[in-house]
Formats: sequence, C-alpha cells, structure tokens
Amino acid sequence: MYINGQWLQTANRFAVFNPANGKEVGQVPDGDADDARRAIDAAVAAFPGWAAATAYERSAKLYRAYELMLAKRDDLARLMTAEQGKPLRMALAEVRYAADFLLWFAEEAKRVYGESIPSARADQRFLVRREPVGVVCAITPWNYPVSMITRKVAPALAAGCTIVLKPAESTPLCAMAVFRILEEAGIPAGVANLVTARDPQPVGEVFCTDPRVRKLSFTGSTEVGRALYQSAAGQFKRVSLELGGHAPFIVFDDADPVHAAKGAAAVKFLNTGQACISPNRIFVQRSVAAPFLDTLRKRVEAQRAGDGLDEASTVGPLFSQRALDKVDAQVQDAVALGATLLSGGRRLTDGALQQGFFYAPTLLADVTPEMRIYREETFGPVAPVIVFDTEQQALAMANDTHYGLAAYVYTQNFARAMRMFEGLHFGIVGINDINPTSAAAPFGGMKHSGLGREGAREGLEEYLETKLGGFSI
Ligand code: NAD
Repeated sequence: MYINGQWLQTANRFAVFNPANGKEVGQVPDGDADDARRAIDAAVAAFPGWAAATAYERSAKLYRAYELMLAKRDDLARLMTAEQGKPLRMALAEVRYAADFLLWFAEEAKRVYGESIPSARADQRFLVRREPVGVVCAITPWNYPVSMITRKVAPALAAGCTIVLKPAESTPLCAMAVFRILEEAGIPAGVANLVTARDPQPVGEVFCTDPRVRKLSFTGSTEVGRALYQSAAGQFKRVSLELGGHAPFIVFDDADPVHAAKGAAAVKFLNTGQACISPNRIFVQRSVAAPFLDTLRKRVEAQRAGDGLDEASTVGPLFSQRALDKVDAQVQDAVALGATLLSGGRRLTDGALQQGFFYAPTLLADVTPEMRIYREETFGPVAPVIVFDTEQQALAMANDTHYGLAAYVYTQNFARAMRMFEGLHFGIVGINDINPTSAAAPFGGMKHSGLGREGAREGLEEYLETKLGGFSI
C-alpha cells in the first residue's frame, strides 16, 4: 500500500493469480478499515498544499507521469496480461489509453476557468470561482486495471483534489505499478494514496462514511454502485458512478452486413467481452440477417482463445470461475428456451486451457426477450443475435433495458442515423463506429449505468465545486 508517500507492508497479505493458468503472480498487503482511515488522514493533510499549488505545477507532474507511463508501457502491459489475462496487444493499447488520461488532464488542469457575471445592481459584482471538491475516494474494477485508475486520478489531481484509491482485489499489482509512476513523477506525499484489500467492504464503508471525504468515484457493477451511493448519501458526498452496460448493436439493411459483422466481432470479443461497452444484444434487420450471421460466424470461429502472452491468442480467459459459470448459465438458458447455438457454447479445457477460465467464443441466433441473456449483462465472449423488421421495433427493443451506457448503429441512411442518435437512451452512441471512446470525449451512462462522466472537460467538472462571490462596492 502507498500511504503518505510510503510503501507499507502489513502482516496479512493476499495472493494474486493469473486467470490464464492459475499461477500466483504476486502478493500484496491486505488493508483494512484502519488503513483506509490512515490514507484519508494523509489525503486530508496534503490537501491544502496541493490545492494551493498552481495549475501549472500540477500539470507538469501529470505530464511527467504521462511520459513515465509511456516509457514503461511494455513492462506495464506484460504485468497486466499476467494479472488480468487480456492479450498483450490489447494490454499495450490499454496502457496507451491510460496514459492519454494523464496527458489530457495535464492539459485541462490549466483551463479551470471562472466567470464574471453582470449584476442588475450597479454597485454589485458577481465572480464565480472553481475549487477542488476536497478529498476523493475511488474504487476501480479489474477489467481495465490501469486506465480506470488514471481516468479518476488524473482529473482529481488536475483539479487540486487529493485521493485515496482502492483497486479491485484481483488486479492490485497493476495499481501498484501506476502509483509507482505517480511517485516517480514527483506527486507529493499524501496527494495520491493506494489501499489494497482482499475484502473491499470495510474499506468501501470508510470511504462512504468518513465525513472528511467529499467525493466518491466508483467504477464497477450496478449492484455495488447502488449500495455505495446509498451509503454515501448520509454525508451528501458528491458521487460519480460508472456501472454496468447492456449495449445494443443495431444493423440496418441499408448498411453493408459484412462490414457490420466484422465490426461486431471486433468489439464483442475485446477483453473477452468483459467491457461495460461490449455489445450484449445484436439486432439485425431481416433482409441482411443471413450474410451478417455468416460473416459473424466465420469471425467467431477465427478467434483463438489462449494465454495473452501467446501472440496467436485473440481472446484471453474470463476472470474467475464465477464469471465462467454466469456466462455458461446464460448460454444454457438461451438454448433451453429455443436459441440456436451457431458456435461455441462451452468451457474450453483442451491442453493448457484447462488451467484457466476459458470460454469458447460463442454465437447465438434466435434470441428472444424471455431469455436471461436478453436482459442481463453478459460480461463474456457471447454474441446473441436478434432479427428485427422495422426501425421502430429496433429502437424499442434497444431501449428496453435499465442500462444506458453504449449503443452501436450501422446504417448508411443519414436521417436514420440522426433519428437513432437522438432516440437511443444511452450515454455513448457509435454510428458506424465501434470505438467511440477517447480521453477527450465524455464517457458515462444513463439510467442504471451510472452518474456523471469521465474523460473530456466534463471529467474535470466532477472534481470541482462552484463558488459564487457577490461583491458590493
Ligand atoms: P464489482 O462491482 O464487483 O467490483 C468493482 C470494484 O468494487 C472492485 O474494486 C471491488 O473490490 C469493489 N467492491 C465490490 N464490492 C464492494 C463493496 N461492498 N464495497 C466497496 N467496494 C466493493 O464489479 P466487477 O465485477 O469487478 O466489474 C465488472 C463491472 O464493472 C461490470 O458490471 C462492468 O460493466 C462494470 N464496469 C463499468 C465501467 C464503466 O465505465 N461504466 C468500466 C468497467 C467496468
């Protein structure tokens, strides 16, 4: 753990395992509620100094962290593949994405502008000033174990906040590597603190209830996000939540079905489907369903599951036995209720795959609203396909979910593209675009997918208070 500029050991430690082969990758301190309080003490003590530093000083340190992260990208990516399982190429792409947040917020730190507002009274002046919200606590998930950290730490630090972060219990080593970079970049003691813990609950409880913490930022499941939101309400903390998703992927008959199927396969199997913006329900218009399914099936069958360090692997393991069981249960339920299994549909156990949590890339057709997979987030390498007839039907089915994070549409009809962009109740809409994400663009969801946005100008707003000054002269 990294508290007040010191790397601390504890008597209790816990091990981290490689999901591709079950081997131990390392051991980390098992922190508890007292450690969380100590880290908050450090963040409270460091806050006045960091908030008073100039935006240019804060920016320079974030920029240094950006440079260091890029310089260390190969080591960081290898560690990520060992700890989380994604293919090395994807891990390198994630490090680049993570570094982008350091760069973007190093730049935005210098653009925290206030305002002067005209008054109706000649003897009055209004000035608006933006201030850091104070001490921030953050909780991050395992699926993007480096970029989800910089997406919170960079804007918090840019705004002048200090932070305590608890990473997911299955990827604490990546978090430690990120905090070593922050240390090397010269971020002062107490400004950024890391508490690792096997049991997230006691640390989360302190984050939500300690009155000195003014903001909670969480990325993870909707259930945990709801519990933390309720708990933080007692202190009226500012809360940002990036939660689950259930992305529709809609292919209209005016689009090229082969091109759309290639796009669907590319985004569906990224990170073995363990992404909150992964397509979860693929809707295809009836007249192009056959060529679409044909290309998608070929692409699914071309996937190679394996250890991420093996260059031939295109999909890694799932992250746990529980994840494997959930995905398999959804597939079995769909097949029992009449879905057609076109590919996959089973755990992979050939040779070395037996040591890890590998599930075959899977394609299901004839999926209907009665099936669990139609309603529940999958978080696995399963592509469920549903055929539709009209635009209204597609829009209604796409919006028929509590989630509202990402949606994708393939069409060559401009007016239809605009109607879908406006009609979809999702925070991110990719039109003929499978990668609508960037450090410069606001990321976040509607409805049960969360509150607030990360990245972009809005990502910094989440860490700023507005103060009005009324001056009588
Ligand atoms: P999770 O909610 O179980 O865990 C996320 C984090 O919360 C981990 O650090 C975990 O230790 C912590 N946590 C769990 N229970 C807690 C508790 N009682 N108190 C405090 N902290 C607790 O989710 P997960 O399975 O690790 O991650 C997958 C989920 O995250 C998916 O639903 C996915 O869609 C979502 N996710 C969302 C985004 C986004 O930006 N919207 C990004 C990545 C993942």
